[in-house]
Amino acid sequence: MFFYKIAVLGSSLKPLTYASDSKFLPNQIVEIYVRNSLKKGVILELCQKPNFKTKEILKATEFKFSLTQATLANFIAAYYICDLGVAFNIFTPFKQTKFKSINFNLTPNLSSDQTKAYEFANEHKTSLIFGDTGSGKSEIYIKLIAKTLNQGKQALFLMPEISLTPQMEKRLLSYFGDALAIWHSKISPKKKSEILTKFESGEVKLIAGARSALFLPFTNLGLIVVDEEHDDSYKSAQKPRYNARDLSLFLASKFDIKVLLGSATPSLTTFNKQPTFRLKGTYHESFKEIIYDENETKLSKSIIKELKICLEDKKQAIVFLPTRANFKYMVCSKCSTLVKCPFCSVGMSYHKDKNSLKCHYCGYSTFAKVKCSSCKSPLLEAKRMGTSEVLDNLRAVFKDANIAKFDRDEITTQKKLVSLLKDFNDKKIDILVGTQMLSKGHDYHNVSLAVIMGIDENLNYADFRAREKSLALAIQLSGRAGRAGKAKVLIQTRQVEFFKEYILNYDKFLADELEYRSGLYPPFTKLLRILISHKNEKIAISTTSKCLERLKSVENIEIVGYGKAGIEYIASKFRYEILIRSKNIKALIKSGFSVYDISGVEVDMDPLSFA
Ligand SMILES: [Zn+2]
Ligand SMILES: [Zn+2]
Repeated sequence: MFFYKIAVLGSSLKPLTYASDSKFLPNQIVEIYVRNSLKKGVILELCQKPNFKTKEILKATEFKFSLTQATLANFIAAYYICDLGVAFNIFTPFKQTKFKSINFNLTPNLSSDQTKAYEFANEHKTSLIFGDTGSGKSEIYIKLIAKTLNQGKQALFLMPEISLTPQMEKRLLSYFGDALAIWHSKISPKKKSEILTKFESGEVKLIAGARSALFLPFTNLGLIVVDEEHDDSYKSAQKPRYNARDLSLFLASKFDIKVLLGSATPSLTTFNKQPTFRLKGTYHESFKEIIYDENETKLSKSIIKELKICLEDKKQAIVFLPTRANFKYMVCSKCSTLVKCPFCSVGMSYHKDKNSLKCHYCGYSTFAKVKCSSCKSPLLEAKRMGTSEVLDNLRAVFKDANIAKFDRDEITTQKKLVSLLKDFNDKKIDILVGTQMLSKGHDYHNVSLAVIMGIDENLNYADFRAREKSLALAIQLSGRAGRAGKAKVLIQTRQVEFFKEYILNYDKFLADELEYRSGLYPPFTKLLRILISHKNEKIAISTTSKCLERLKSVENIEIVGYGKAGIEYIASKFRYEILIRSKNIKALIKSGFSVYDISGVEVDMDPLSFA
């Protein structure tokens, strides 16, 4: 009889011991009974006969995990603080892999600067290309991918899901043909299994995908390109709360895998840690005219004037706002009380088309005719314009123009995204009004004006990265204008000094910000956030105390603060948090493991969201 430690896939149970007459290899997937229900588990290791009674393994499946996958799963469990069964469960297992040699001779022609960047990436195991919008990072990626594939290895090209557009796919197809597959969360199960078959047969060698593509069964991975490495979408918002960019760097430290990160606005952490090549933008980039408008968020005279000039020139414009809907929230005209969602501690947004108030956190919606909860007055005032309101107002001013909306209310499927981007590039739309989605690496060919409204809202968030994120957003947005010539960027802000200093000089920002964060925040220290939530507030409070009590035994950590979370109530649950800081990674991990199994507790290593 052999005995095995097995992690139950998808379960928070500690590894269990099972027996079998057969010999199994680590990382094989087997079927087992756990408390009378049939489950799948992964063999972790052979072990000694335990001194308790064990169940037998029912049978082996055809599936297994690769060594790369198993190594990564173990790291996720240890670093992002979860059980192995949960970590393994995000990976796609495989049956077998075959090898097929293909040669790619077609590669893009590089300029001399691009060649230098390419050589830099070639020489370093991990590196960052800090390249302005339009500086030609993609050509460098493509050349490096071709080189990797020609060495008989696989390559992974990660990007935010919204950047996986047909334009991008077409471009990669022209170089890599059938060796390419696209992978993201919205692909149908049928399509996924087709891709996996081709991947296992060795036909597909390059995966371009969103963060989940990292968990495919690579057996011979040679390169990971992480484009837009600063993007928060690489971080998972659910357990395990991994960051795909950081996991890529971990893989590079363990295996013969090269990692190339790229961004026009790199995160401070990456910039501080990675060997960096600075790839400057085109001649046009430096001739961008920046206009400041110190009005509070509204369609000011100068915005209307600039849009008019733009339309008369037969050019296109984009208009950014941080909020969707018509208004972000409503307040009582008499006593200023906020109209809140009954299940969350946030204001409800006003959607004029459905005449409803909607909570953007839990989805609850109600008829817009409500009374003030405090003084019962029916008079409500709408605050903070959103995309729908600006769209309506612009349509009233520019009656002949085609104006469309680009946000999560509008773009609900990949198909809608594709068709809207096509219409915009075919010039069927003159002005595109949207949220952050506007900034995500899409190529707009004819945009000569970018209007940025409401950015102060982002800048004022209680988040140590608020400056970095707001500036990166403004730079990404302004990068959408002027891909083919002169362009204007209008920023509506009361923080003119900040933007004047840095909007054309992200390099200076990175240097100043490093000094500003020195000693207190990442990249100089690391953070761990403990989030406690419960329907009963008393239990949420007592759980917080229990966590604090357990944390007392952990040395080398600093409890930065604890109490109600930024949003203290979501979907009928009270939310509390504890924020821990340390320069000692082991101490932070120990803190996480000391509380992670308490009911209602979630741990978030290297948190990006503080809501
Ligand atoms: Zn709600
Ligand atoms: Zn009132």
